Amino acid sequence: MENLRFFEQVNLNFDRAAKYVRFTDGLLEQIKGCNTVCHFTFPLKRDNGSIETIHAWRAEHSHHKLPTKGGIRYSMMVNEDEVKALAALMTYKCAVVDVPFGGAKGGVKIDRKNYSSAELERITRRFTFELVSKNFIGPDIDVPAPDYGTGEQEMAWIVDTYKAVNPSLNAEGCVTGKPVGLGGIRGRTEATGRGVFFGVREACENKEDMQALGLTTGLAGKRVIVQGFGNVGFHSVKYLMEADAKIIAVCEWDGAIYNEDGIDIIALDNHRKEHKTITTYPGGTLISDSRAAIELECDILVPAALEGQINGENAPRIKAKIIAEAANGPTTQQAHDIIKDRGALIIPDNYLNAGGVTVSYFEWLKNLSHVRFGRMDRRFEENASRRLLDVMQNMTNRNLSDEEIGKLAHGANEYDLVDSGLEDTMITAYNEI
Ligand code: GLU
Repeated sequence: MENLRFFEQVNLNFDRAAKYVRFTDGLLEQIKGCNTVCHFTFPLKRDNGSIETIHAWRAEHSHHKLPTKGGIRYSMMVNEDEVKALAALMTYKCAVVDVPFGGAKGGVKIDRKNYSSAELERITRRFTFELVSKNFIGPDIDVPAPDYGTGEQEMAWIVDTYKAVNPSLNAEGCVTGKPVGLGGIRGRTEATGRGVFFGVREACENKEDMQALGLTTGLAGKRVIVQGFGNVGFHSVKYLMEADAKIIAVCEWDGAIYNEDGIDIIALDNHRKEHKTITTYPGGTLISDSRAAIELECDILVPAALEGQINGENAPRIKAKIIAEAANGPTTQQAHDIIKDRGALIIPDNYLNAGGVTVSYFEWLKNLSHVRFGRMDRRFEENASRRLLDVMQNMTNRNLSDEEIGKLAHGANEYDLVDSGLEDTMITAYNEI
């Protein structure tokens, strides 16, 4: 089981879940398979004049709802199997939070640390051209987003390139996670981590579950270890810290920082920005073997890096009572069974990290409806607020309170609207799973 490839691991999970539904085998096979996958190769002219071949992929797992949706990652681990597995996880994730997209995922096989900003721009723009020419991008076709190793800057290059060749009214909706000035939405950058926070908070509010784990209810005082201090890891523990949890270890690829009294996440982030590493941070002890650091005793372990990090080899030594899967596929099947057998709680990725795509959905709706979620010109107020109201109700699947409607009509704050839509989505999905 442990030697299975990532997509096989995902499918094993699918088969386990499929036992509880009444669909025919043929239909289940159709749902499980990846609809399309494309391998792109293109040249990159490096700054020194040499030519390098870049390998990239885009997988669209399911077209049952369009557009398909999912991030683009830049990592040396990217390959066809990985994008197919991650695209499948996107399909299931969107279903869990009731976001009407099919799943997709893309990746470029590079270690971004080895490329200048100009080279990254050339890679991103050329990849976008490739996606356009093969019909793998478009507001109603397939909509990428940030993922491991990409962020706002790459999304800005994508939308700019896409608009240059498709200058249509809805072109901005071809990608999400854009800077706010280019059609992005406030709150998208922090959305995945914010969603992780809401999900963990819900789990910790559950008295019976906490009692079974020998833990008190609530987040206050919970000892947390995070693996990965990228966008998702950072925001997850930032919000957990703000809710009085104690972040005792932060693990990165080049070492971990440990402090039983709690690490100030903001100070650590500032240190990392200045020194390009967390390992020299003075507010804790350095553990150079960061893989060992996730095995330390704690209440909540937040894997927020890459897949397969908790596996059959290290799972027997992992002591956390709650595994909060912020990454996609961080726990292998074998590890999953080992951890469940000792009675720990796993909050699964396809629920817990769905905050990113949820707010991507809000961003996409904003782009397509051409509505500004914020102050509005009074002349258009009546019509626009009606329209916005519809959008918000679609977003959150609920009827808005009078107070919320009032806010919409009289200059709501976009971040607050997004945040309440996200919170509502995460709580609703938690209660459904
Ligand atoms: N890359 C993120 C994920 O894995 C976000 C995807 C999106 O917003 O489309 O969920």
